[in-house]
Amino acid sequence: MPSLAIVWFRRDLRLSDNPALMAALATHQTVIPVYIHDETCGRTEGGASLWWLHHSLTALDQSLKRKKSRLILRRGPAAECLHDLIKQTGASAVYWNRLYDEPSRERDTAIKTALKKKNITAESFNGSLLKEPWEMKTKTGNEYRVFTPFWKNMAADINLDPPLPVPKTVRPAINWPTSDALDDWRLLPTKPDWAGGFREMWRVGEDAAAERFDDFLEAAVTAYPDGRDRPALAATSRLSPHLHFGEISPRQVWQRAKIYMAAHKATAGGALAYLREIGWREFSYHLLFHAPSLATKNWNTRFDSFPWAKVTQVKNKKNLEAWQKGQTGYPIVDAGMRELWTTGWMHNRVRMIAASFLIKHLMIDWRHGEQWFWDTLVDADPANNAASWQWVAGSGADASPYFRIFNPVLQGEKFDSDGQYVRRWVPELATMPNKFIHHPWDAPADVLKAAGVVLGKTYPQPLIDHSLARARALEAYGQTK
Ligand code: FAD
Repeated sequence: MPSLAIVWFRRDLRLSDNPALMAALATHQTVIPVYIHDETCGRTEGGASLWWLHHSLTALDQSLKRKKSRLILRRGPAAECLHDLIKQTGASAVYWNRLYDEPSRERDTAIKTALKKKNITAESFNGSLLKEPWEMKTKTGNEYRVFTPFWKNMAADINLDPPLPVPKTVRPAINWPTSDALDDWRLLPTKPDWAGGFREMWRVGEDAAAERFDDFLEAAVTAYPDGRDRPALAATSRLSPHLHFGEISPRQVWQRAKIYMAAHKATAGGALAYLREIGWREFSYHLLFHAPSLATKNWNTRFDSFPWAKVTQVKNKKNLEAWQKGQTGYPIVDAGMRELWTTGWMHNRVRMIAASFLIKHLMIDWRHGEQWFWDTLVDADPANNAASWQWVAGSGADASPYFRIFNPVLQGEKFDSDGQYVRRWVPELATMPNKFIHHPWDAPADVLKAAGVVLGKTYPQPLIDHSLARARALEAYGQTK
C-alpha cells in the first residue's frame, strides 16, 4: 500500500511556503489535505472571521484542485476527526504547522502524544512566524517585555531559509475519505446577509494575498512611513487577514520586502518601516506565548484594581452600544467603527483612537472592546488583538502609558485634516466645512444648517466632553495601585 500522510491545514491556508505540506510530500507517496472546524478548542471565531474562513477554504480547495487534489473538510473535536480519518484512509503520518494560543497548543500536544503511541508519525512546523516565540530570549535568558530590543535582536539575527515553492503536484489519494460540504457549515451570514461591504473590499485566498502585497510594494511602500497614519489613503498593505489565515507567510513577506529593498536602495526606508510592523506581529505572538491569558487578564496586574464603568448599568451599556454602532458624536471614532462594521477592517490609527475612546473617555474595560473587535474584524487575531488592546489600555507590555489620552478632535485634525475619511464613513457630515468636521458641536447654527446637520437628530451630540473625560480617566488611574 502506498504510504499516505494527512496534512492538517489550520491557519496556513496556502500551498506556497508551507513546511507541513512539503514535509509530507517529501516522504509520502500520497497526501490528504484536511481542514477541521474544531469549535471545541479555545475561542470561537467571530462572524467576520468565519466569513473569511469560508472563502479562504474555497480558495484553498480550488488551488488543490489545480494540483489534482482537494480539501477534505471535517467538523468536530480535532482528535476524533483525525482518528476517524486515519481509520478510513490508513494514513501513517499527520503533519501540521503550529498555532500558538494555549488551547490549541495543549490540544496539539495531546494529539501528537496519542498519535505517536499508535506509531503514527506526527510532526509540526513553524509556518506563521519569523521565529518561534521560545527562541527569542534576552541576554539574561528571559522573555522580552519591550518591543525595541526584541525587534533589534530579531532583525539582526534573522537567518531565514528562502520560502518554499508551491509543490509541482500534491499527489492525490486513490480513495478519498468522505468530506463535509462547506455550505453545510453555514459560515456565511444569511438573514441578514451583512457581508456586502466585505465582498466589495476583499478578495480572499493565497493568490489575492500575493497580488495585494505586490501591489502594495509597487504603489505604496515608499510612502508608508508617513502614509500609514492617514486613514483616508490606501497607504497600508491590508495584508492582516491574509497573514492571520496564513494565505501568505511572514517569511514570504520578509523575502519580497528584502528583494524590493535591494532593488530600490534610495527608498528602502519604507519597506524597513513596514517590516517593523511585521515585527509587532512577532512581538504580540511572543507575548501571547508567555502570557496565554493575554485576551482576558491584564498583563500588568496594577490594572486589576482599575474602577471600570459597569456595563450592567444602563448608561454605560448605552455608551458601549453607541461606540459599537459609531454613534459617539466624535466623527473620527464613529467613522472608524462604521468602517469596521461595513468592511471587517479598520485603519490602525483609527483603531488606536477608537479603542482609546472606549477605554479612557467611556472608562469601559478594554476586554469589551477586544471582544467587539474579535467579533467584527476579518483579521481578528488572538495575539495581535489582545496585545493591541492592552497596549492602548496601558495594561500591556511596552504599552502606551495610561495617562497619554488621545484627544479625538486633535487626532482627527492631524491625521484626517481635510475630513475625507470622516466624510466617507459618516455621510451625514459630508458637507460640513473642514474647520468643524471633527467637532461639529462648535459650528455656528448657520453652518450646521447649511450642512443639513441637526445635532442630536441627524448626528449625535458627543457622549462626553473631552476635558471632563480626561480628568475623570486620570483620577481613576490614580486610584490603581
Ligand atoms: P500594515 O500597516 O500594512 O502592517 C503590516 C502587517 O503588520 C499587518 O497586516 C499586521 O499583520 C502587522 N501589524 C501592523 N501593526 C501591528 C500591530 N500594532 N500589532 C501587531 N501586528 C501589527 N491586527 C491584527 O492583525 N489583528 C487584530 O485583531 C488586531 N487588533 C487590533 C486592535 C487594536 C485596538 C489596535 C490598535 C490594533 C490592532 N491590530 C490588529 C493591529 C493593526 O491595527 C492591524 O494589524 C493593521 O491595521 C492591519 O492593517 P494592514 O495590514 O494594512 O497593516
